[in-house]
Amino acid sequence: MREYLKFYIDGQWVAPSTPKTAEVINPATEAVSGRISLGSAADVDKAVAAAKKAFASWSQTTREQRLDVLQSIQAEYAKRQTEIGDAIMEEMGAPSGLAQGFHTALGAGHLATAIEVLKEFKFSEQRGATLIAKEPIGVCALITPWNWPMNQIAVKVFPALATGCTMILKPPQLAPYSAQIFAEILDKAGVPKGVFNMLQGSGAVIGTALSTHPDVDLISFTGSEGVGVEIAKNAAPGVKRVCQELGGKSAFVVLDDADLAKNVASATSSMMINSGQTCSAGSRLLVPKKRMAEALEAAKAAAEGVTVGDPKGNVAMGPVVSKAQYNIIQEYIETGVGEGAKIVAGGAGRPEGLSKGWYVKPTVFGNVSNSMRIAREEIFGPVLVVIGYDDVDDAVAIANDSDFGLAGYVNGADAAACNAVARRMRTGWISINGGYDFHAPFGGYKKSGNGREWGEFGFHEYLEVKSMLGYAP
Ligand code: NAP
Ligand code: MG
Repeated sequence: MREYLKFYIDGQWVAPSTPKTAEVINPATEAVSGRISLGSAADVDKAVAAAKKAFASWSQTTREQRLDVLQSIQAEYAKRQTEIGDAIMEEMGAPSGLAQGFHTALGAGHLATAIEVLKEFKFSEQRGATLIAKEPIGVCALITPWNWPMNQIAVKVFPALATGCTMILKPPQLAPYSAQIFAEILDKAGVPKGVFNMLQGSGAVIGTALSTHPDVDLISFTGSEGVGVEIAKNAAPGVKRVCQELGGKSAFVVLDDADLAKNVASATSSMMINSGQTCSAGSRLLVPKKRMAEALEAAKAAAEGVTVGDPKGNVAMGPVVSKAQYNIIQEYIETGVGEGAKIVAGGAGRPEGLSKGWYVKPTVFGNVSNSMRIAREEIFGPVLVVIGYDDVDDAVAIANDSDFGLAGYVNGADAAACNAVARRMRTGWISINGGYDFHAPFGGYKKSGNGREWGEFGFHEYLEVKSMLGYAP
């Protein structure tokens, strides 16, 4: 049993102003795995005051001073990486291989990237008699989701630190453990007091107190569209900068010249990674209509080959995060059937042999039309919909016929054709034939948000631009 009852405020582990706790459930067992404290607006006031005070000195540090701090964090992170992986497995159910692998590697990757970017970043630029300076925006509230918990924290905290901002992190109640270890790492690494603060608690309480707080300058939020809108409204009277990283319903386009079976198989198994709980998942698979039967056969084999079970074991997929998430996914599966889509693999209920834990069957729907709800709404579970297209123009039109625009995937044999499709897709991040890059900006068009995280672009979110005219070179 884990007990994380204190918050990290002003360089100290402190009890909440008013004691209140919540149980954390292990989604693989449905059993209580530990307890956290839930904070209140009074705790937010303390954390914001600490961050505001620390901003005076942290914002004036040199690049080298901040690099030293980030490198100390890197050393501490490496020591605790296995513990973080265990925490992620327990809190949100990622299988051990994934939790110890990609989940923790993403944290390390963003840290290494922030260090590389900081070494070279231009904080000022002389243009004639004008100096354009980029300065830290101030006190930042960082509100993160549970699905890739360390990734989400890392893409916010490291650029905020690197640019000289101070911050309050509000991790999700569903994944509080990895955040707690993260705070311990920053404490050990010697981040000056007040620069980084961490409070646990409900979004409705802590998140609202942060979004409306007069001394918070920026809110960086990753999560659902509804909450993103609520935060923006709460932040509007204070004219805060609000960076929103929201959901998606991204298209995975397999072009006609691609090895169809191979690409459909890899698109299907990729969809099931993290139980489908990935904002950038390629959840709409677009294949040539005339080859639908071949595609569905490959998708069925791939989905049925995904091993599901106890995350401690050697499985490809664990449970989904919670009972609520399980129920939402089950409703979507029923909706898909009701809409006339054909279940090709999986379907309603738990996989055979699993009677406890929030396990979902890796599910594939065929004969899906892009107007169906299962093609328009983010399911956030291991559910893939396969849609047929007539030609490339039709594929692009279907891909773009979405309220979202977070990610996209284009696979094909002809590189120029892939590039052309990628250019026509109205989405912020597109992977062509498996391309991946920690330095590439990540963020959405349309209702997928307005921010750009990762690498150098992630730094810009935390910076104000100041013009000094008549500035003698
Ligand atoms: P969520 O329900 O929106 O919650 C995200 C965070 O916001 C949590 O820490 C939550 O706190 C907090 N929150 C809830 N209500 C709030 C309020 N009124 N004011 C301020 N904060 C509030 O999202 P989720 O269910 O955790 O995550 C899934 C969603 O995130 C999906 O839509 C997914 O696509 C999206 N996502 C997007 C990206 C991206 O980069 N674009 C990446 C990952 C995930 P509590 O839940 O602890 O109360
Ligand atoms: Mg939620």
